[in-house]
Amino acid sequence: MTTWTNWAETTTAHLAGIAQPSTVDELRAAVAGAARDGMRVKPIGAGHSFTAIGQTSGIQIRMSNLAGVLRADVPSGLVTVLAGTRLHELNETLWHLGLSMTNLGDIDVQTVSGAIATGTHGTGARFGGIATQVRGLQIVTADGTLLECSADENAELLAAARVGLGALGVIATVTLQCEPAFALAASESPATLDEVLDGLEENVDGNDHFEFFWFPHTRRVLTKRNNRVLPGTRLEPIGRLRHKIDDEFLSNTVFDAINKVTSRRPSLIPHANAFAARALSARDYIDRSYRVFASPRTVKFREMEYAVPRAAVPQVLAEIEAYLARSGEQTGFPVEVRFAAADDIPLSTAYGRESGYIAVHEYIRRDYERYFHAVEAIARDVGGRPHWGKLHWRDAESLREAYPRFDDFVALRDKLDPDRVFGNEYLAKVLGA
Ligand SMILES: Cc1cc2nc3c(=O)[nH]c(=O)nc-3n(C[C@H](O)[C@H](O)[C@H](O)COP(=O)(O)OP(=O)(O)OC[C@H]3O[C@@H](n4cnc5c(N)ncnc54)[C@H](O)[C@@H]3O)c2cc1C
Repeated sequence: MTTWTNWAETTTAHLAGIAQPSTVDELRAAVAGAARDGMRVKPIGAGHSFTAIGQTSGIQIRMSNLAGVLRADVPSGLVTVLAGTRLHELNETLWHLGLSMTNLGDIDVQTVSGAIATGTHGTGARFGGIATQVRGLQIVTADGTLLECSADENAELLAAARVGLGALGVIATVTLQCEPAFALAASESPATLDEVLDGLEENVDGNDHFEFFWFPHTRRVLTKRNNRVLPGTRLEPIGRLRHKIDDEFLSNTVFDAINKVTSRRPSLIPHANAFAARALSARDYIDRSYRVFASPRTVKFREMEYAVPRAAVPQVLAEIEAYLARSGEQTGFPVEVRFAAADDIPLSTAYGRESGYIAVHEYIRRDYERYFHAVEAIARDVGGRPHWGKLHWRDAESLREAYPRFDDFVALRDKLDPDRVFGNEYLAKVLGA
């Protein structure tokens, strides 16, 4: 029996077996064979979900050999990839084709199928999560059948499986709507929480991609504004030394050292947060879009993220601040605040509403449960929806209230996977048994 653990070390699985298909036919055979033997099946990407969404005691299907671009139609921007393609590989290949993904999250190690399955998103009031770029899927269902899904064929399945939680089948290929390659001008600068909240609407609507990090126990924030530049604009990437100091040294090495110390002496956390907020100083640069969106994360942490109605962001932050002051709870990680457009994907956290995303983090060696539970209660009160790949404690009954099309998704799942070949404990909890 092989043991598997996710990146955040929140989930361990004892696997009955592993399949590592290299072709779509091998993938179909692996699913059909496991189902025939009465085994459960669970595809896994980069293992970067914090929840147990990817856990199984059955057969784990590793998507790593099902990677690469299959077709690219540059004029239309439609690109078909094998589902296990990592985002960083996709981004490089797209750039050399003269194409870019419209928006991305803040790391790029995930697989395409893993990223869309949990509703992975970046920031930008006019843009949706990665799944909104999906125009077609090939899905292997529980009996090994390969279903083509497009606007013309199995359109209902396409609509739901874009954020499918791995509950509807194994995605074999994904067709993405990409766009002409673009660069971003990045502007990062410190501010106070009041300054950012006072100008929130202008910041969010006036920039292509706006986000900020608030350092709890202080009123300091770091803002990030990324805006598209005209084609042909000369790139001005961060110098290698500055990159090493900011991204590798301050954001990772020093941050890790600080967290090790404050894990032993939590009373130092407010000072450490004030130091971190000051150390990350202003910088401006222009680079390929995907290099601006994503950066390396070597410090391990736990995370919960809630999508709330955009207008509720200031209230949620005020309540988190009040909770921290009232409870004496201390956290050494910034709270990340991002934004997204409304979309039409039934289980997308941004379904039907403009959203603000509020993410809380805690260092891997520190207890996160009290803090995250408290933030969950605050976010839930304003109709918040938890990221499917990040820690939360919601169940099917409470999620049904949060998603107008929850029962449509559950009905589709019942039709496609009545025997729960793709089931696991997490899905039983969030979708119902
Ligand atoms: C350091 C870090 C930074 C992050 N940053 C962001 C961010 O900026 N924005 C954001 O929204 N999220 C972020 N996340 C969350 C992350 O993007 C998601 O959890 C994503 O699902 C991880 O992709 P993965 O390839 O690791 O998928 P996995 O965790 O391996 O799998 C996730 C789910 O997808 C399913 N799955 C995988 N492949 C298939 C397939 N072929 N067919 C059907 N189902 C499949 C799995 O069964 C599982 O249910 C971050 C996570 C970490 C650890």
